[in-house]
Amino acid sequence: MRILLRGGRVVSAGGVRASDVLLDGEIVAAVGENLSGEGARVVDCAGKLLFPGFIDGHTHFDLEVGGTITADDFATGSRAALRGGTTTVIDFAAPDKGEALRAGLDRWRGKAEGRCACDYGFHMTIDDWDEGISREIGEMAAEGIPSFKMYMTYPAMMIGEGDMYRALLRLKEAGGIAGVHCENDGVIRALTEDARARGALGPGSHPRTRPAPLEAEAVAHLLRLAQLADAPVIIVHLSARESLEEVRAARRRGQTVYVETCPHYLLLEDSVYDSPDFMEAAKYVCAPPIRRREDQEALWEALRSGEIHTVATDHCPFTTAQKRAGRYDFTKIPGGLPGVEHRGQLLYTHGVAAGRIGAEDMCRVLCENPARLYGCWPRKGVIAPGSDGDIVVWDPEARGTITAADQVQNVDYTPYEGWAVQGAAEQVYLRGILAVDRGAVLVENSGQFIKRGRNQL
Ligand code: MN
Repeated sequence: MRILLRGGRVVSAGGVRASDVLLDGEIVAAVGENLSGEGARVVDCAGKLLFPGFIDGHTHFDLEVGGTITADDFATGSRAALRGGTTTVIDFAAPDKGEALRAGLDRWRGKAEGRCACDYGFHMTIDDWDEGISREIGEMAAEGIPSFKMYMTYPAMMIGEGDMYRALLRLKEAGGIAGVHCENDGVIRALTEDARARGALGPGSHPRTRPAPLEAEAVAHLLRLAQLADAPVIIVHLSARESLEEVRAARRRGQTVYVETCPHYLLLEDSVYDSPDFMEAAKYVCAPPIRRREDQEALWEALRSGEIHTVATDHCPFTTAQKRAGRYDFTKIPGGLPGVEHRGQLLYTHGVAAGRIGAEDMCRVLCENPARLYGCWPRKGVIAPGSDGDIVVWDPEARGTITAADQVQNVDYTPYEGWAVQGAAEQVYLRGILAVDRGAVLVENSGQFIKRGRNQL
């Protein structure tokens, strides 16, 4: 089946250019002016931007956290992703402590296979360390899972700094790379105990027990270990200006540091926790927490300058009923925000339409950089001959409002309720299949596991 997307403007990280795009089967056959539509179904894309399918390098579908499970599984979460223009997600496969990495991978493949509507891959969480796991890192990389995750907070996930250092060395040797959740666990625990002793158990205590300096300290700490290991690392969900300063210091030393941030850190500010209504504040509980306005400004500036490489969602949805578990104790509120469906619209509205970044920057942080960093370039992340036919036909003039009532992500609220948005994914193609048409998701289990290779960023 050949499809000619005619008369649009193709977006790449290098710029925006008037071009037709010819899809043949699953791949892009040609990109250029005045392509012949002979034998093809022709789609008029006049006035539209054509982005490569967005890649979300940070989702948590079907994840058990503290006795509950994220509200989206691979079926619902992937459909929400597609609806917003995201054609590939990279989720996190996590073994339990004491298990082989293989056990975690098998479990996550079982959750996704035959159920995921968009293409997918996994980062492998390293939450334990021994000879076997060290050996498995090479096996995982060979099987298309070259990216890993480590935690400096959450006792169930932490491996401690000696083993984290060993893991960085081993990853470098195997051609892998790790994203790290950076927060200082010990001081967070102390602040939490103090809040509890004061009886300050409302959601307003959440951001006060995880202040920005504790993120920056962990970033600095990690980056010194990475310096010693001479290994590149990724700081995931960086939220604070102080953390950027630590990244800059490491780069001045010659280190390679990749940075991811998320829409909620770019767009929300910490007054969200001030509401006297439990649920109004609990909705925004995530780690790191929502920061100050000055942090937002610093993140936008770093996004524009290229100091931040990717914008991912950290989609980790819990319904208001699930959030209610922390009614009398903020530490029991499951942490995380929904967002996989709205990332493109939010970034277009508050980035491109607002004049903070260009469409090519949006393409860089949603498409090209994640594809390169996570080793699926140029199959993904670019509209070029031979690439997968993952295309977002973006209507830059569409106007709408984000509401929970409209969304298909499986959660009863959105942090962006009532927000006006400009721009929308009018059609989304996944490997040449029309997967979304004007808000209707047309596919169910069309996703494939994407084998990835080395970082090319
Ligand atoms: Mn996460």
